[in-house]
Amino acid sequence: MTAEPITTDVLIIGAGPAGLYAAYYAGFRGFSCVVMDSLPELGGQVAALYPEKLIYDVAGFPAIKGQDLVDGLVEQAASAKPTYLLGHRAEQLSVADDAATVTSHKDLVVRAKAVLITGGIGTFTPRPLPDAEHYEGQGLRYFVPKLDELAGKDVLIVGGGDSAVDWALSLETLARSVTLIHRRTAFRAHQGSVDRMLASSVRILTPYEVAHIHGEPDVKAVEVFNNATDEREMLDVQEVVAALGFTADLGPFTRWGLEQQKRHIVVDSAMRTSLPRVFAAGDITEYDGKVRLISVGFGEAATAVNNAATVVEPGAKVFPGHSSGGE
Ligand SMILES: Cc1cc2nc3c(=O)[nH]c(=O)nc-3n(C[C@H](O)[C@H](O)[C@H](O)COP(=O)(O)OP(=O)(O)OC[C@H]3O[C@@H](n4cnc5c(N)ncnc54)[C@H](O)[C@@H]3O)c2cc1C
Repeated sequence: MTAEPITTDVLIIGAGPAGLYAAYYAGFRGFSCVVMDSLPELGGQVAALYPEKLIYDVAGFPAIKGQDLVDGLVEQAASAKPTYLLGHRAEQLSVADDAATVTSHKDLVVRAKAVLITGGIGTFTPRPLPDAEHYEGQGLRYFVPKLDELAGKDVLIVGGGDSAVDWALSLETLARSVTLIHRRTAFRAHQGSVDRMLASSVRILTPYEVAHIHGEPDVKAVEVFNNATDEREMLDVQEVVAALGFTADLGPFTRWGLEQQKRHIVVDSAMRTSLPRVFAAGDITEYDGKVRLISVGFGEAATAVNNAATVVEPGAKVFPGHSSGGE
């Protein structure tokens, strides 16, 4: 049975940096807002791909850890009292004279006066560890949003990219033991991080893959094998972090009749898309001179919401006034 539609002033699709900042601005304008994201966590690419990395080019922060930036954005957005619909992929859009309606893949319907698409590079799906779905939530995870959850545990990390290496380094001092396996001998991660990992207490096995996970219902041990020699080893671990990367899919947005260019949504200088009531901001937008950075997404989010204000509330000014209360 389909649930009652949710009505809101602004629906934001995508809870990455641009979407979270847009939520703050919707609140600043006095609008109600709903933020929908297909992922179970807030923070978009930052939280999913590099929560432990330092970011050096966000205005006002000489260096800030990815997850700290997300936490700050969530705290700032809280003043807007957003309704978060996590685990919902926006699937369909219809635009009428008085509202735009978006339906999620779980048939949740949101009716909004304006829709802001901050979908970044699309929906992310973690590349699954083969034959292991059964252990998801039972010791197998694809994200480590809270490092503390793995404190005191024996952890196996699978992967050779930045996320795998970053998580190995961050867990080294928290977990009882950290083993990292990678199916190749060379890593794809930042060389400085790889060097730090090589010098750390993380046990590294390459070229190794998972043969079998043991335990019922929770992970108790993992059998790994050397894919060059077939040498096998049983690792006593309670937690497996599969950092095999993500596939990104722009999917639904490409079917909504929006003008696109190079798999991005074309916007004008007010962040309007080609559809009425529909705006876009952040990595997903395209215009001459576009630069895909967090700081640019913040500016676009502010522009988009303040221009959407005139659609949500006809007669409203684009300029929101100063948040400091200054003239
Ligand atoms: C390893 C790495 C390091 C980086 N370092 C930096 C850096 O140092 N400085 C910098 O400025 N930038 C950096 N970036 C880029 C930066 O992360 C992006 O520019 C930024 O995340 C874009 O924010 P966004 O909000 O537009 O989109 P995203 O962060 O991509 O968030 C989009 C959200 O939309 C959701 N979504 C997509 N489609 C749907 C749908 N149909 N329904 C529901 N939800 C949907 C996604 O699940 C996602 O959560 C880095 C990127 C990577 C991968």
